[in-house]
Amino acid sequence: MQSEALPSDAPEFDYVIIGAGSAGCVLANRLSATGKNSVLLLEAGPKDHNIWIHVPLGYGRLFKAKAVNWMYQTEPEPELDGRTVFQPRGKVLGGSSSINGLLYVRGQHEDYDRWRQRGNEGWGYEDVLPYFKKAEHQQRGPDEFHGVGGPLPVSDLGHADPLSAYAYRWFGGLLSRETIDRRFDRFWEHLRELGDAVDLVVCASRELQERLAEGGVANTALHPMGIEAGLFTPERRDPALRRQLLELCDLPEDAHLLIGVGRLAPEKRWPMVVDAVAAASRSLPIGLVMLGAGRQKRRILAQVAGNPHIRVLAPERDRQRFAAILASADALIHGCEAETFCMAAAEARAAGVPVIVPDRGGAADHARGGAGIAYKAGNALAASQAIIDLFAGRVPVNGEIEPPVTMEEHFVRLFADYERVRGRQRAAA
Ligand SMILES: Cc1cc2nc3c(=O)[nH]c(=O)nc-3n(C[C@H](O)[C@H](O)[C@H](O)COP(=O)(O)OP(=O)(O)OC[C@H]3O[C@@H](n4cnc5c(N)ncnc54)[C@H](O)[C@@H]3O)c2cc1C
Repeated sequence: MQSEALPSDAPEFDYVIIGAGSAGCVLANRLSATGKNSVLLLEAGPKDHNIWIHVPLGYGRLFKAKAVNWMYQTEPEPELDGRTVFQPRGKVLGGSSSINGLLYVRGQHEDYDRWRQRGNEGWGYEDVLPYFKKAEHQQRGPDEFHGVGGPLPVSDLGHADPLSAYAYRWFGGLLSRETIDRRFDRFWEHLRELGDAVDLVVCASRELQERLAEGGVANTALHPMGIEAGLFTPERRDPALRRQLLELCDLPEDAHLLIGVGRLAPEKRWPMVVDAVAAASRSLPIGLVMLGAGRQKRRILAQVAGNPHIRVLAPERDRQRFAAILASADALIHGCEAETFCMAAAEARAAGVPVIVPDRGGAADHARGGAGIAYKAGNALAASQAIIDLFAGRVPVNGEIEPPVTMEEHFVRLFADYERVRGRQRAAA
């Protein structure tokens, strides 16, 4: 083997890292953070300019994208009757984490302990747990297994509807939904391809199913999500708690109490809700308690502008107490038309609390059958009128509404559908 001498003026580095994938990038960041070390990070692939790296669900497009993927194929596998298996791997800045499914997955407790038992000191579960915690910024807050303040944000499965949350929210004020559909046909094409590639596209709301089906996405099935069984019930309504919440809003017991629940994020449209509540308060005494955390907090507080009847509180982590707060409100208000389901509205419905929700997206389903009122999505005036109509008794709210399904019922129905699909496949084989 012939080795070429480096030119004498070649730059020198304290560290050379080969591969700017998940591990390489973290390592380079750590080593260079103090500014004391010089670090050379070499990557075989290009920069991460490919749009699908940055679009939710975009990884479906990258699974076989040669420009950013090594596209490995295994040797024939004896255990698979000699078949070879496709193995995607990222070949781009960010490595496989640029083309992966974004699921936060840790190994099993036992996996690490087995490493230690095989002589790898420092690799047992108890040894690695502090590092998992240090790396993490867990949206739910810290606990025995999770940390906050780290560079890796971890959140529960986001259930915003990407159709509404991005293009439609950005351009909705300027263009009709149909025009946006046409201009973003590439995105629709992607969704249609995904639909063709799978047996079931499970939708948690009627509207999402209808929109996808109208857009040509095949194999859609409606499976509303389920709520925690036994937790949300009108029996948890607590007049003393209601009084306390109204006091927080500087209002007496005979005022109306609205509750808002959700992340403080732009697609939730809290500033619009704040405007609607402030406008409705000119007609009726109304307090709004919002439970949520998120990056838009400052913007929302600016919109509240010191209004003593609107309070923004931290999310209530104690589920029993949360259920009691929800049941003690007079109505739940929601601003987001980008929900695939809207868990908060489902829980309110189960707690016997009427909902005031936008007429688009998953939240709208929860106002059906007399469970509440739907207003024109994104419109503060319409939302404020809906609040007034509801509290003035102008909306027939049905006390006998059909309760949302529980989580257990949801899975029973979902798996029954999977079984149906498998049955069809077996019959066709
Ligand atoms: C399609 C897919 C979906 C996945 N989904 C998930 C998920 O949802 N959740 C999860 O936890 N994990 C998931 N993973 C796994 C996860 O992404 C990987 O385990 C992780 O990214 C591996 O990190 P790494 O640093 O070891 O390697 P990589 O991130 O793959 O980085 C290796 C880097 O080295 C570069 N490289 C290789 N050879 C050279 C060379 N000679 N010179 C210069 N550069 C070179 C490569 O181009 C690449 O950028 C998924 C992986 C794939 C492929």
